Amino acid sequence: MIVKRGFKFKLKPKAIHENLFLQFAGAVRWVFNRGLDQKKTSFEKTGKSPSYFEQNKELTLLKQQPETAWLKDIHSQVLQQGLKNLDRAFENFFRKSKKPSGFPNFKKKGIKESFRFPQGVTVEDKRVFLPKIGWVAFHKSREIPGVIKETTITQEGNDWFVSFSCEWEKKDPKLASVDENKAIGIDVGLTSFATTAATENNCREDIENPRFFTKALSHLRYLSKQLSKKVKKSKNSSKARLKLSKHHTRVKNLRKEFVQQLSSKMIKSHDIFCVESLDISHLLKISSKGMARAISDASWRSFLYCLKYKAEEQGKHFVEAGKYFPSSQICASCNHQQPMPLSVREYLCLSCGVKNDRDYNSSIVLKAVGMSVLKSLWSCPCLREL
Ligand SMILES: [Zn+2]
Repeated sequence: MIVKRGFKFKLKPKAIHENLFLQFAGAVRWVFNRGLDQKKTSFEKTGKSPSYFEQNKELTLLKQQPETAWLKDIHSQVLQQGLKNLDRAFENFFRKSKKPSGFPNFKKKGIKESFRFPQGVTVEDKRVFLPKIGWVAFHKSREIPGVIKETTITQEGNDWFVSFSCEWEKKDPKLASVDENKAIGIDVGLTSFATTAATENNCREDIENPRFFTKALSHLRYLSKQLSKKVKKSKNSSKARLKLSKHHTRVKNLRKEFVQQLSSKMIKSHDIFCVESLDISHLLKISSKGMARAISDASWRSFLYCLKYKAEEQGKHFVEAGKYFPSSQICASCNHQQPMPLSVREYLCLSCGVKNDRDYNSSIVLKAVGMSVLKSLWSCPCLREL
């Protein structure tokens, strides 16, 4: 099996490197914004917009013109990545891709500065070679496995980071057997981060929702107010912006750590993971502002993503119930289905009279459905040999 994984490290750039980073990120932003403007104008006029290939061809011509000859100083594939990002953003908007999203926005200076090398990057000891920039030292906290496929440089606050997306081949793991005592049903929610039902006895566990963003919200609001009081583009304003961005990064890292630790802990003790398939984008669209914030803060998507790839790597089973599967409406005892408005926190079955907490009921149902899918697959001898 091919394993794909990303690794991020803090860079230790010299002043000359930082200047080049800003120059590269600025050029990519310029190419992206110019391309977006072209696509937008042309689409409004003719209903068609120039393709990636047409815009890329134009990029070569721009380098030959005196006023845009500065583009020659930037690695050509880095600039092309800017156009590719734009093309992807357009495809997403027109729903050609699996992830529909809003109309692409113009990129602003100082916000999420980044650029990407699709190839040509080498790592040697504790330094990385970036084409047209040179060797830059970084805090190498772990070994980098496999082959580096892409390298992205990003700025967070005043710091710069390098992210390597790597690939390597791993022997297919032995598939775990289908044993209900190693199964867990997971229902994610807002009251608890997740409610789980494990083993044949449906042992319950409620995982507390850490609500990192909600807890940090008042301080973030305070920092954001401080920033708005400062004179624009002044030294004090950039100091205040840095403080705010550092706090946002802290929240992001806490979430990431929580998700990684929880998924690793679950993987160690179970072989079968039965979860619901979440349509977060849809949930966010139909939720109020506060609710949407709570959903984003919960980071269910990244938790389930981590769980899935870790399970696959170790030959464990990850079963997702369909997007429209009504796990919260089905009785865990008798399979009766009844409407369950979100405000009703307890499942009182109108058929068999069993009473259960709503989320716990769902986790049992998810586990049962996952197990029945796996058992029916397992009963086929050709699949069992895989
Ligand atoms: Zn029932």
